[in-house]
Amino acid sequence: MATLGIPQNTIAVLQKYQFHFQKKYGQNFLIDTSVLERIIRAAHIDKADCVLEIGPGIGTMTQYLAESAGKVIAVEIDKALIPILEETLAPYENVTVLQGDILKTDVGELAERCNGGKPLKVVANLPYYITTPIIMGLFEKSVPLESITVMVQKEVAERMQAGPGTKDYGALSLAVQYYAEPEIVANVPPNCFMPRPNVGSAVVKLKRFEKPPVEAADEKFLFMLIRAAFSQRRKMLINALAGSGEAAFSKERTEAALEAMGISAQIRGEKLTLSQFAELSNLLYTSE
Ligand code: SAM
Repeated sequence: MATLGIPQNTIAVLQKYQFHFQKKYGQNFLIDTSVLERIIRAAHIDKADCVLEIGPGIGTMTQYLAESAGKVIAVEIDKALIPILEETLAPYENVTVLQGDILKTDVGELAERCNGGKPLKVVANLPYYITTPIIMGLFEKSVPLESITVMVQKEVAERMQAGPGTKDYGALSLAVQYYAEPEIVANVPPNCFMPRPNVGSAVVKLKRFEKPPVEAADEKFLFMLIRAAFSQRRKMLINALAGSGEAAFSKERTEAALEAMGISAQIRGEKLTLSQFAELSNLLYTSE
């Protein structure tokens, strides 16, 4: 029975092991059973699933995952947590804990070894200092994934879900929406964690597309264009791109490409949709 979501039980485990929170690892443990249940429901886990949990902490969410999933693989960087996890997860035979850094873990190989190459579901209360590298790493390395359901900083969740013309819209929105459909499923206040973080949090579910919704002649080139467009977001797109120093983005070329697309040369990058960015990148790429 999952028991760690109850604050007194978490405190008892922390005291027994004299555990000291490590700020550098973004350790904010969940102590709210209704939030834990909400995450599990949103992730739609059943016994056919193999779940990858990033940063199990003392195993609070791992217990819930173990009860719903067929298999759970949990990767934890902090060596001090491993003996704790051995105790808290002892009743669950379907859990494997690996000590290591998720950014250095070959998740594709894990999926192959633990799930016969079938897609994993990722569920985590992420360490906020590396949210973007973790998520983009999973997408870019073409790891077989069905969905990613994660707790992140509220502003980051909002940026992932934002659309053109809004203040939160940017390179992260476009990168995430190229690979997945994002949905914020819950907002979570600081008092649901121990210790309390200084920021609000949200659970976001990213449902991976089988194939991206737009066709890019060259993905790297598309993302280079997007990053350049938002590097100076208050500028007109043609100036922001020209300022990036990339030869492919000279003012004349961008102006001609925008004209071919029927878009004003005065436009700012923040107004362009993902499919317009893809079209622009294909035009600039082929005219290189
Ligand atoms: N899942 C637990 C919970 O919800 O209570 C803990 C979540 S806490 C926000 C983030 C966890 O990720 C911590 O246990 C931390 O040690 C771990 N962590 C931080 N950086 C990591 C990394 N690079 N690789 C794997 N785990 C990491």
